[in-house]
Amino acid sequence: MIEQVVQSDPDCLFCKIVDGKIPSRMVYQDDALYAFHDIHPWAPVHFLIIPKLHIPAMAQLTEAHAALMGRMMVLVPKLALQEGCKPYPEGGFRLLANTGAEGGQEVHHLHLHVMGGPRPWLRG
Ligand code: 5GP
Ligand code: ZN
Repeated sequence: MIEQVVQSDPDCLFCKIVDGKIPSRMVYQDDALYAFHDIHPWAPVHFLIIPKLHIPAMAQLTEAHAALMGRMMVLVPKLALQEGCKPYPEGGFRLLANTGAEGGQEVHHLHLHVMGGPRPWLRG
């Protein structure tokens, strides 16, 4: 288990979701991670996985976050199946981590988009 201080930014939308101040449709949570459905899904399955710790973007990652990020990645295929993505290789999913303005990031709390389900999709 990762030891970490769970730090929160009171002005951050996703910190407010983690704290329950803004409602969300939860997919999964544990001591360090939270997953919830995207409010504007691009695909039949579209959820976000975030660390509870406020890390603004992948740009701020250091070696200290390696285990946390590893846990996020290992969770992706498990939650994708749980949420209805068909198994690989016929099914599968798309993983996206928008980072910074030119990367298309709108919410500055690190998150992975997991998208899947039958095509066509709205976007992506
Ligand atoms: P980004 O562009 O930063 O990678 O993606 C942010 C995502 O957060 C968008 O897909 C957007 O639909 C989603 N989002 C923004 N506000 C909310 C919210 O209040 N609740 C939920 N569940 N998703 C949100
Ligand atoms: Zn945050």
